[in-house]
Amino acid sequence: MYYYFWLMIPALLLSLYAQAKVGSTFRKYSKVRTESGITGAMTARRMLDEGGLNDVDVVRISGNLTDNFDPKKGIISLSDSVHSSSSVSAVGVAAHETGHALQHRDEYGPMKLRSFLVPVANIGSVAGPYIAIAGLIFSIDILLELGIVLFSAAVLFYLVTLPVEMNASRRAMELLETGGILNNNELSSAKKVLNAAALTYIAAALSAIMTLVRLILISRNRR
Ligand SMILES: [Zn+2]
Repeated sequence: MYYYFWLMIPALLLSLYAQAKVGSTFRKYSKVRTESGITGAMTARRMLDEGGLNDVDVVRISGNLTDNFDPKKGIISLSDSVHSSSSVSAVGVAAHETGHALQHRDEYGPMKLRSFLVPVANIGSVAGPYIAIAGLIFSIDILLELGIVLFSAAVLFYLVTLPVEMNASRRAMELLETGGILNNNELSSAKKVLNAAALTYIAAALSAIMTLVRLILISRNRR
């Protein structure tokens, strides 16, 4: 199972870089207070109300960078460092999560596809490689193929995540600008935070693609 491990090195390096970058960028702009003094929660509330989403709740969640939008419950959860903070980072992240709520409202295609892929991707990303390796060890070709097919679904999920995340950030930046929530300086800082976050999704997608390439190469080589 260590075959072609070197193929993973670029993805691993990018992941490490992206994690460090998102952490440092978030921390940097967590110390910069917005001119208006608006908090993350206030930003989300305002954007939601303007988007006709009065029924979506904004709640506080523990943890660091745990912010998310739950389309089933209609809840935006903002972490401690975002919810009540009036930093540029907090406002940027809150706006991004609101972007996801707006995607849900608009039945944004890639988001629907992503939700559809969640269950199979969850199984595929965890079990896929193990099933493939079991097929390899016990020389059961059908298991090997099944593992690869399952993992392909996970790869598709990671790929579809990219337009969903980019689009949420694009919506966030547009609304922060048109709503006059951030000034020009703050806008470019918020964009840096969101771009750093996007990099982590790119790293995850690259890592999934390279794992799939490895599985395919390993399966080809034994024939
Ligand atoms: Zn997101």
